[in-house]
Amino acid sequence: MSLNHVRPWRNIYRRSSRQIMVGNVPVGGDAPISVQTMTNTVTTDIPGTIAQVQAAAEAGADIVRVSVPDQASSKALKEIVAESPVPIVADIHFHYKRGIEAAEAGAACLRINPGNIGDETRVREVIKAARDHGCSMRIGVNAGSLEKHLLEKYGEPCPDAMVESGLDHIKVLQDNDFHEFKISCKASDVFMAAAAYQQLAEATDAPIHLGITEAGGLVSGTIKSAIGLGNLLWMGIGDTIRVSLSADPVEEVKVGYEILKSLGLRHRGVNIISCPSCARQGFDVIKTVETLEKRLEHIKTPMSLSIIGCVVNGPGEALMTDVGFTGGGAGSGMVYLAGKASHKMSNEQMIDHIVEEVEKKAAEIDAAEAEVQAAE
Ligand code: SF4
Repeated sequence: MSLNHVRPWRNIYRRSSRQIMVGNVPVGGDAPISVQTMTNTVTTDIPGTIAQVQAAAEAGADIVRVSVPDQASSKALKEIVAESPVPIVADIHFHYKRGIEAAEAGAACLRINPGNIGDETRVREVIKAARDHGCSMRIGVNAGSLEKHLLEKYGEPCPDAMVESGLDHIKVLQDNDFHEFKISCKASDVFMAAAAYQQLAEATDAPIHLGITEAGGLVSGTIKSAIGLGNLLWMGIGDTIRVSLSADPVEEVKVGYEILKSLGLRHRGVNIISCPSCARQGFDVIKTVETLEKRLEHIKTPMSLSIIGCVVNGPGEALMTDVGFTGGGAGSGMVYLAGKASHKMSNEQMIDHIVEEVEKKAAEIDAAEAEVQAAE
């Protein structure tokens, strides 16, 4: 349960934006900040792409983007959309016709890049296709592929150029009476992306898709994204996020959730609070946490678990978590339930026991939630 009402220093005031729909997922307004990822299979490998979409959805992705580089991919998209448990965004570059085909194939949203989609006549045709097929759109500005005239005007990619590109395209959509769009202004440079997003947030009420593009590998990209997206989200900017990593899309989803979880903006699964461990630890904290992370992957209910090596911080952390374990010495530790010391447990049996306690607690939370929903 969120305790932000009694801890106002934890509050984040989200920028108010219009709400659009990406398939059945609302984006913007008071909708939860959605987590996106993108497949990296060849789109024409239909079973491979469907498997990746499903794995990402299972990990918690609300929306998945699929690249549509050629006509064969537009055809494949139809089958991918049919099998996908989540809305599919078609990623369109260079060929406006792919946008039209993707709309016909059932994409929930078309991502177009203002820097390479072509002139206004082409964009108008894509808008018509989106309208005819009930798709929303994303204007996806990228510092690495800005329009030539903006690069000439500004001399190099910069926040002003990115925002101008985005606003020009917003105008094209609005002039065509199309308002179901969101916008992104991505750069691989954290400073440039953050500055562009802040300007954009002031200049439009469109929902904002956040991302630090080409962020890097799992560790470096996670850190870059956590700094860039984390700061913007903390400022209240961002309605949907994608963490771009040179890694499995499932990892992107996990990192996206962890960023949102860290800021209390979204909750999913078990939030494990654990200490780094030191000579005082009463059990092997690092190994235990690694094992528990894997054994608790199936839990989707938002809840918290503290795994702390000793009594220095154990009881204090346990006070604020649903289930806790604190190492004690003599081969056993204390299990905490709802913040209170409950019973002792041997280190050997602790992992199985904690998994059981977490499963029990998750079932209790789910039942209470179902009761509230039934009453409503
Ligand atoms: S809680 Fe205890 S075991 Fe963990 S790092 Fe602190 S002193 Fe060490």
